[in-house]
Amino acid sequence: MTRNDGPALGFDSLAIHAGQEFDPTTGAVIPPVHFSSTYAQDGIGGLRGGYEYGRSGNPTRTALETQLAAIEGGAHGISFASGLAAEDALLRAVLAPGDEVLLGSDVYGGTYRLIARLLAPWGVRLRVVDMSDLDVVAAALEERPARVLWVETPSNPLLKVSDIAGLARLGHAAGALVVVDNTFASPALQRPLALGADVVVHSTTKYLGGHSDVVGGAVVTSDDALAEQVRFLQFAAGAVSGPLDAWLTSRGIKTLAVRMQRHSENADAVARFLDAHDRVAHVYYPGLPAHPGHDLAAQQMTGFGGIVSLSLADGPTARRFAESTRLFTLAESLGGVESLLNYPDEMTHASVRGTELAVPVELVRLSVGLESADDLLADLDQALAGL
Ligand SMILES: *Cc1c(COP(=O)(O)O)cnc(C)c1O
Repeated sequence: MTRNDGPALGFDSLAIHAGQEFDPTTGAVIPPVHFSSTYAQDGIGGLRGGYEYGRSGNPTRTALETQLAAIEGGAHGISFASGLAAEDALLRAVLAPGDEVLLGSDVYGGTYRLIARLLAPWGVRLRVVDMSDLDVVAAALEERPARVLWVETPSNPLLKVSDIAGLARLGHAAGALVVVDNTFASPALQRPLALGADVVVHSTTKYLGGHSDVVGGAVVTSDDALAEQVRFLQFAAGAVSGPLDAWLTSRGIKTLAVRMQRHSENADAVARFLDAHDRVAHVYYPGLPAHPGHDLAAQQMTGFGGIVSLSLADGPTARRFAESTRLFTLAESLGGVESLLNYPDEMTHASVRGTELAVPVELVRLSVGLESADDLLADLDQALAGL
């Protein structure tokens, strides 16, 4: 059965049903996990379902890829073993020696590391700009064109908001491919392709998986030629997602919309509580009216998301705070049902210390989970009281 006939489905329906048809042989409502690494052929080249070997294709991965494309509103979803594997495949598919990437100044540290330390030795050039300022980006592109404009919004960990539609216009006028890392917002809150971006990348490890039990990544695009190139990299370099990883990610996506709604509500409560607290120097959350990207976020997103950063008096105070919560677990990563707390300078962003992407030492990042909001506030309160 295909549910694509008939009227176009809404986001929640697509998240639950796209690629997730019941098993035609048994009627099992949940598609099975196909572990087989290889497929019987009816005579040489006689493939039954188009599958021949697990690196080139796997039905559980296809189910996830169909779901990923549907929820981002793209024609092609391509799934990888991690977010960075997805980024690597995309960048190697589109870049040649001498090409330049224009990168936001506040992106995930691993993205910077990938380009600066892995791709730069092969001749790729990197320039870092403030993507949240269209004038700065326009001036940078006028000075020298770039092959790729890499946008992350809201950004990690400073929650800067960049104008996707505006950047897509600027990037396209300069002949650049416009890529948006949509990990923080997820397609439940923001659809970069509809706003004009060419490609969306994800660390599905975060909100899409949603339960901190699987590592994965994705590239989604409606550009057929680009999809073919990225798919070739997926096949030829082999950083595919395994069947169980793909299945867990598909299961997570089915509840994405309700989770993002509650993440946003809890994060809003946390941000307001911290904003009113006298031990907190500054709160970074696009849902706060005083946030410089608030109006833009309200326009291009349907919720403000679950990540809140805060700064404390100084580095040592931030470290102490980071080590004194009980319900918020001190750990890297984000986007799971449980609340996590991270000290970027020494944890997620240690690789960009001393570079132009370095984060303030007094900064702490919270991934606000789905626990009872009162319990989260009480935990933050006791940690702040102990400083
Ligand atoms: C975690 C993360 C990545 C990298 O993804 P992995 O799955 O850890 O490889 C990329 N971008 C953002 C915004 C992230 O948070």
